[in-house]
Amino acid sequence: MNTSPEPTIVSALPEGTPTSLFIDGKWREATDGGTFTDINPATGAELEVLAAAGAADVDQAVAAARAQLDGEWGALPGAARGRILNKVADLIERDTDILARLEALDVGKPIGQPTMLDIPNAVATFRHFAGWADKVNGSVIPTAGYMGRPTHSFTVREPIGVIGAIVPWNTPLMIAAWKLAPALATGNTLVVKPPEDAPLSILYLAKLLQEAGLPDGVVNVVPGLGTVAGDALVRHRDVDKISFTGSPQVGRMISQRAADTFKRVTLELGGKSPQIILADADVEAAINGTAMGLFFNQGEVCAAGTRVLVHRSLYAQVVDGLAAAASAQVVGDPLDPETTMGALVNAKQLETVLGYIQKGRQDGARLVAGGARAGSTGYFVQPTIFADATNDMTIAREEIFGPVGTVIPFDDADEAIRLANDTDYGLAASIWTRDVSYAHTLARKVRAGAVWVNGWAAIDPALPWGGMKTSGIGRELGWAGIEANTEEKVVTIVL
Ligand code: NAD
Repeated sequence: MNTSPEPTIVSALPEGTPTSLFIDGKWREATDGGTFTDINPATGAELEVLAAAGAADVDQAVAAARAQLDGEWGALPGAARGRILNKVADLIERDTDILARLEALDVGKPIGQPTMLDIPNAVATFRHFAGWADKVNGSVIPTAGYMGRPTHSFTVREPIGVIGAIVPWNTPLMIAAWKLAPALATGNTLVVKPPEDAPLSILYLAKLLQEAGLPDGVVNVVPGLGTVAGDALVRHRDVDKISFTGSPQVGRMISQRAADTFKRVTLELGGKSPQIILADADVEAAINGTAMGLFFNQGEVCAAGTRVLVHRSLYAQVVDGLAAAASAQVVGDPLDPETTMGALVNAKQLETVLGYIQKGRQDGARLVAGGARAGSTGYFVQPTIFADATNDMTIAREEIFGPVGTVIPFDDADEAIRLANDTDYGLAASIWTRDVSYAHTLARKVRAGAVWVNGWAAIDPALPWGGMKTSGIGRELGWAGIEANTEEKVVTIVL
């Protein structure tokens, strides 16, 4: 493993990166002058001091968003909304280098990854939903009539209203796009709460939304603390829906608080996703795909394939292969294009991940790669593999959100499915096999929102995204994303 996080890492932000609140089309400081400090995970040093929204600011942001529902935005036809969304996609694409640098500096991820995934995916998401904007229609439904008279009944899909979008730090731009694009395509307005650990790309996106011609107040961005700005948004009586992506702990709390005002809620939460490698798998492809599912974005991925379930006949080969893949990772400066694994987002996350590694050792799993902090500057951790684990160990049950894989052997496919489903989570799963017919059978048995056969994280804006069990409630993206952002109304005319 090449672990050379350089103490000379630079952290200059691109010129013109916004650091204040964006409310009703204006950039301004917090009403109470509050601020918070954003850290560069690669150095542990201050990256920027930003305005921290308080309840009064959230109030103004919600008022601006509400006014636009009956304003210029509310009057725009779908085709015009679609044109703006296409323009947003073009601008994100134009500024790929700036956005990639912001994600690398703020999240600690290697700069090649946002260039390859986060940013093209955000562009594709805006384009996908630009296409939907003038195609969301209802249906005409025959009925038995009303008091002996015939009726004409039809449905229309209307915007839900003001949506509070709360975003986590691991892929902020991409997840913001998943919330903004379908909500805007269907005519909603939003108040976005970026993550306090990585707020910069979403603030930059707000600049692009304005440049694309989005009317003032349609999207407002309130950086700040989750317990202050996020909480104010969740409790606000004039917010119609919360679209939340983050941890199950915060998701549960949001769900309970949102119930007070009967807000709609979409929850995209954590995971402990299995990678099932069957005896007939293409082993090289399975090892490479599984390694990607463990180490991509430092393992800070909700769908990370952290439970590697391997048929006993391939077990030793897969353990060796994953240990070799861990050793081949280049851990270091997120801005260096050669880097394959950057820093964890903050000191707390480093401590959490090292704590899980310690727990894995204590519980008797065999450490075959990594197992320690990398370097002494910033929050780097070595890519880590545990073998000979059992599914009841803490490292196999709890979401670690770091580059730590747990390899567990099985003897037949029934046992593999039992292990795969023996978890509180249900976000994603991979099945590696050459028998496509059998893959269909197993895919039906796995309790997860997404099942990938011979791949990992084959995501697309056209495909619904969301989890079962503790992994969440509801779906984003695709047609499900349109449904999640609209209320279906029935109109009945008694003839
Ligand atoms: P988190 O729950 O700590 O924070 C997420 C967001 O919620 C942040 O913007 C935070 O400021 C805000 N928040 C915190 N407390 C709040 C409160 N009391 N009221 C309102 N908002 C509050 O999660 P995180 O650490 O940023 O992200 C990691 C988690 O996100 C992991 O569990 C991961 O699996 C999950 N995640 C899920 C998906 C998915 O699509 N299912 C995608 C990415 C991340």
